[in-house]
Amino acid sequence: MIHMKALTDFSKICIHTITNKPWNIEECAAHYASEGIKGMTIWRNVLENHNIYKTGEMLRNNNIEIVSLCRGGFFPSADKNKRLKAINDNIKAIDEASELGAPLIILVCGADPAQSLDESRHQIKDGILAVIGYAEKNKIKLAIEPLHPMYADTRSAINTIAQANDLAEEIDSPWLGVAVDVYHVWWDPSLEKEIHRCGKHRSIFAFHMSDWKSPSADMLNDRGIMGEGCIPVRKIRGWVEDAGFDGFNEVEIFSDKYWAEDQLEFLHKIKKAYLEHS
Ligand code: ZN
Repeated sequence: MIHMKALTDFSKICIHTITNKPWNIEECAAHYASEGIKGMTIWRNVLENHNIYKTGEMLRNNNIEIVSLCRGGFFPSADKNKRLKAINDNIKAIDEASELGAPLIILVCGADPAQSLDESRHQIKDGILAVIGYAEKNKIKLAIEPLHPMYADTRSAINTIAQANDLAEEIDSPWLGVAVDVYHVWWDPSLEKEIHRCGKHRSIFAFHMSDWKSPSADMLNDRGIMGEGCIPVRKIRGWVEDAGFDGFNEVEIFSDKYWAEDQLEFLHKIKKAYLEHS
């Protein structure tokens, strides 16, 4: 039986820095701290020109928990040099996560339209196998995030939780799991079943929320706040929790519309929607 309980407080809310893209990391930290946001997922762009260790300290001093680093992956390419470059970049991301104090890296696995999806999938597996030992050595977990199939040309050849589960089971490392992002997987008729399969292996490492606006004006940058679209966010959260996940509920919204607005007002809308719709 699925519980559909509303969230009643902000003890498990996490916001991705990309959600408030106009803010730098210092502004994110200050506003999240004063608004009672407990967790932060950090996109690598906000770390540019920063001492990463000190940035982690600054966040901890603001009582903000670093939930994950976004993002690694992008393993496939028809060009062997680009594949090697991608592996080096993932090693660098693991180093950055260690310095920052982030326990987890989200993998957007990648795809190359110059080759078949099958070939890209093989290269994703090879790429993860090439870095998983280094991740384990540094005690950093990696989460495969399946992306909506509309991104299968360039962003990810892994498009369903079933594919992510298959890949995680083949590689079979406690340091490799799956990130469930409602925006990418809400349409999948096997979603509930695959979430439970993932939970059985204790492999749900992250849960990302937003909404699918109908109509959607842009494939990338028109995500909605929870409750604004057609994704049953609360129901999916119930499945994820029934499967044993008890981590943060991460708000990840790419939106040209909201990025153009006052970011503090946007944050207030997110908090209201968090309690009412997620
Ligand atoms: Zn996500």
